[in-house]
Amino acid sequence: MASWVERDAAVVWHGFTQMASWAENAPVIVERGEGRELIDVDGRRYLDGISSLWLTTLGHRVPELDSALVGQAGRIAHSTMLGNGNRVVVELAEALARVVPVERPHVLFAGDGASAVEQALRIAFQYWVNLGVGGRASYLGFGGAYHGDTVGALSVGDDAFNGPLFEPLRFPVLRAPGFDRPDCLKVAAELVREHADELAAVVVEPLVQGAAGMLMVAAEQFAQLGEACHQTGTLLVCDEVATGFGRTGTLFASQRCGLRPDLLVLGKGLTGGYLPMSATVAADHVYRAFLGEDLGPRTLYHGHSYAGNALAAAVALEHLRLLERWDVPAGVAERSAQLRGLLRERIVPLPAVREVRLEGLMGGIDLEAAGQERVGRRVCAAAVRRGVLLRPLGDTVVLVPPLTITSAELDRLVSVLAAAIVEVTAA
Ligand SMILES: *Cc1c(COP(=O)(O)O)cnc(C)c1O
Repeated sequence: MASWVERDAAVVWHGFTQMASWAENAPVIVERGEGRELIDVDGRRYLDGISSLWLTTLGHRVPELDSALVGQAGRIAHSTMLGNGNRVVVELAEALARVVPVERPHVLFAGDGASAVEQALRIAFQYWVNLGVGGRASYLGFGGAYHGDTVGALSVGDDAFNGPLFEPLRFPVLRAPGFDRPDCLKVAAELVREHADELAAVVVEPLVQGAAGMLMVAAEQFAQLGEACHQTGTLLVCDEVATGFGRTGTLFASQRCGLRPDLLVLGKGLTGGYLPMSATVAADHVYRAFLGEDLGPRTLYHGHSYAGNALAAAVALEHLRLLERWDVPAGVAERSAQLRGLLRERIVPLPAVREVRLEGLMGGIDLEAAGQERVGRRVCAAAVRRGVLLRPLGDTVVLVPPLTITSAELDRLVSVLAAAIVEVTAA
């Protein structure tokens, strides 16, 4: 019998992965999970240092989430959102409406972060048409931004992964500097004022640009962008797919930034990392622009087959309750302070470490070792051999552990990372 890696390589195509060399990179084939650990087909355990690509908030096999899922399976798995409703989806939307930093919110569900971003782009575009205002049909995005891999999301994003490859498919976007420029929000606010009559919306990742390599701007900087949007009527779209649900220490990063988006995009942590579900949350004044005659042109003709999946909704609802019951944001603040201390003590002094950034439990460590290529990749591979699953963004090691990580696990994470950096870079 072929190994699991061979069987996988024969039939599975992994995203963001060069399949020609995939099997050589000692991939982990997961069979089970437990708490903050993944367990592979050979029974080896790995601390999930990236929350399964920034999704898992409360860990794996959370009894309460498992039972919410099973309970809903005993009622119904899915019924369509097109024209009809579903009880648990109503309950979830009510629960979300109570906590999102959006004015009298209305929730349009989808499956993945990218599809919720697409929804926001479509809504922002049609909003101006419905208001009878011509010409406000373009978007302002940021350098280094990442909003997902569908073509619209790819357009407002900076698409650093593909370079010029998909340029012919992407629609043009007005581009502010990335978060590596400390004045990026000042410039963005100026661009909004200058181009207000062309702009439908601004799309921004509040506080942290995740995929750009965990780039961060001080929370106070964002108010000027919010103000420019407010004064010009330009819709503010906050993409909190990565930062939402406690990741940066408040339930939403927009709150830290003093932003109240017209459209809030949620994904990743919405179901605690259990099931694919995303949402575009629209402020009441946006939603109202779509009200009109039955089947008339003001209708939003957009929707995904699995939108408002009942299994996902049941898990997301229980997840929201747990975030509150366990006061997860407070725990994040505490663990973040501990992590900051550990990084300062054991990571910052290493010669290959160029910069360390952290907001809540979202961190990036830039590595640079003279004459060495793919340091990020090799350090993460060394960490995996030591039982901590990490995946870098270029030469930035990303630390995005589950929000419920324990003090001892955090210690293990940083110790392993330090050992991995030393192993790879001490030539
Ligand atoms: C991951 C991510 C997306 C895309 O979400 P998918 O579920 O992968 O489509 C969009 N925006 C941000 C900020 C993300 O981190």
